[in-house]
Amino acid sequence: EYAEISLKDIDQLAKTSFPLCMRHQFDKLKEDHHLKHGGRMQLGLFLKGVGLNLDDALAFWRAEFSKKVGLEKFEKEYAYTIRHNYGKEGKRTDYTPYSCYKIISSTPGAGDHHGCPYRHFSEENLRAALSRMGVNSRATEDVMNKVRNRHYQVACTLTFEALHGVPCDAGINHPNQYFSDSQKILH
Ligand code: SF4
Repeated sequence: EYAEISLKDIDQLAKTSFPLCMRHQFDKLKEDHHLKHGGRMQLGLFLKGVGLNLDDALAFWRAEFSKKVGLEKFEKEYAYTIRHNYGKEGKRTDYTPYSCYKIISSTPGAGDHHGCPYRHFSEENLRAALSRMGVNSRATEDVMNKVRNRHYQVACTLTFEALHGVPCDAGINHPNQYFSDSQKILH
């Protein structure tokens, strides 16, 4: 299990330890102050998995969404889903963060930011995203090679290795594993 993380650290953690799928949704949320349902589920459950508690999660989403839709609409239409993800509404199921397999198999539509960038981005967008992350050009070519052969999780593993400077022998199979492996190296 993961230790609790605090809301004030989240921007820094997104830069150092989020896999590209989560980093992309996080950046889009900050930019648009909105994410569609698929993104709210994928990012929301990931954040729960990294240890953001319910109150902090509500504060996090409220801060962004209220800039776009206003506080009242946020409370009425969106707060429910967040509580739902934490098992506080509806069937009270404790929802589990999505695995790479589930994310790679998803089918994001226009305007969606969920999914796996290695699988769902155009080559041009993926190259730009890797460069923003700080992946050097040689590592980027290795990543693109894996993507061309549809080895998306291997591509993500190579990204992890390029950014952390150490091998990830187990390979990446879950965004929350990417996060916890990264934190182990950085601390
Ligand atoms: Fe996210 Fe997994 Fe894709 Fe990496 S391989 S970007 S962790 S879904």
